Amino acid sequence: MISLTGSDTLFFWRFAMAERIVIIGSGPAGWTAAIYAARANLDPVVYEGEPSNIMVPGGQLMYTTEVENFPGFPSGVQGAEMMALFKQQSQRFDTRVLTEDIESVNFSSHPFKLKSSEGTDIEALSVIIATGARANWLNLPNEQRLAKTGGGVSACAICDGGLPGYRDKVLVVVGGGDSAIEEALYLTKFASKVIMVHRRDELRASPIMQERAKSNPKIEFKWNSVIIDVFGDKIISGIRLQDTINNDETDMECGGLFVAIGHTPNTSFLGDSLELDDKGFIGTRQSWRTATSVVGVFAAGDVMDPHYKQAITAAGTGCMAALEAERWLVSKGLD
Ligand SMILES: Cc1cc2nc3c(=O)[nH]c(=O)nc-3n(C[C@H](O)[C@H](O)[C@H](O)COP(=O)(O)OP(=O)(O)OC[C@H]3O[C@@H](n4cnc5c(N)ncnc54)[C@H](O)[C@@H]3O)c2cc1C
Repeated sequence: MISLTGSDTLFFWRFAMAERIVIIGSGPAGWTAAIYAARANLDPVVYEGEPSNIMVPGGQLMYTTEVENFPGFPSGVQGAEMMALFKQQSQRFDTRVLTEDIESVNFSSHPFKLKSSEGTDIEALSVIIATGARANWLNLPNEQRLAKTGGGVSACAICDGGLPGYRDKVLVVVGGGDSAIEEALYLTKFASKVIMVHRRDELRASPIMQERAKSNPKIEFKWNSVIIDVFGDKIISGIRLQDTINNDETDMECGGLFVAIGHTPNTSFLGDSLELDDKGFIGTRQSWRTATSVVGVFAAGDVMDPHYKQAITAAGTGCMAALEAERWLVSKGLD
């Protein structure tokens, strides 16, 4: 029989009281991590986030209409419906869900400490961060209205560019970086013409990407211009541009607007608790791994992926994070 000293008892009690796995975020990455962790008997708890004017539980797909490229839905699926199914599947295996944000973390000692927006102190043996990255918008009222109703405004060409509503139309891409050019080049497969609107007279993108855009006969440029309004009742019909040099305003007809001005990873609540890259995305230690700079903390989905930013890749890394977390807990005897 093992006899415990007072400090041993305290040690075991603290570990017994801690959550084995806390998942922060409720997009495709968070729910997939929860499904895997729950099926591995880790009794996960998901902090799905509080609804606000910039984020809602369920993540980015709650802002879109039809998702056509997630395998398993041959006729397509509404983004919100798909996220409800993800959540339902994780709850089938008794995942606990709290509609709260995690507001701060302390990873400097183990078990890790987290604080929720309700003021609850949580101790966790392992953590998966799946808080996503918000697409940056122009924040014009009509842009937001049409983006949320599938009215021809989008922040993701790969996701939406192939939808029938954008075919053979004049499409506008706003932005000047590599990803804006990638979006514009992708859209040339469907559009009659792509017009890139940029606030300066030259692009920020790498020379090779600029060259590709400039040599594409379907791409035109509208330099020194910003979009100040979007027109259209149910579907976009045009935009209003303002010249950044003389402030002149002109209207332009178009059949779609793609906003490609970057993403903001949801990592501010992490402070300097782990390593982030210069844009705030969570860095992972190795390619094809989700372990972060803090042992026992894993990251999944758009928050650690500045490249692909798709639901299927988010779900894939959610699976990877849960498997890595489980293996780590087992290796430490903490499962
Ligand atoms: C308009 C639009 C259309 C798209 N269409 C498609 C498509 O058709 N196909 C496709 O594959 N991809 C599409 N995408 C991309 C896709 O939505 C993302 O790649 C995917 O949602 C990323 O999943 P995620 O789980 O990493 O993060 P997200 O889906 O962004 O979810 C992150 C979650 O974390 C929560 N959260 C954030 N901070 C906290 C915190 N501190 N505490 C607790 N919770 C927090 C948020 O509320 C949110 O629920 C689209 C994106 C946009 C913007």
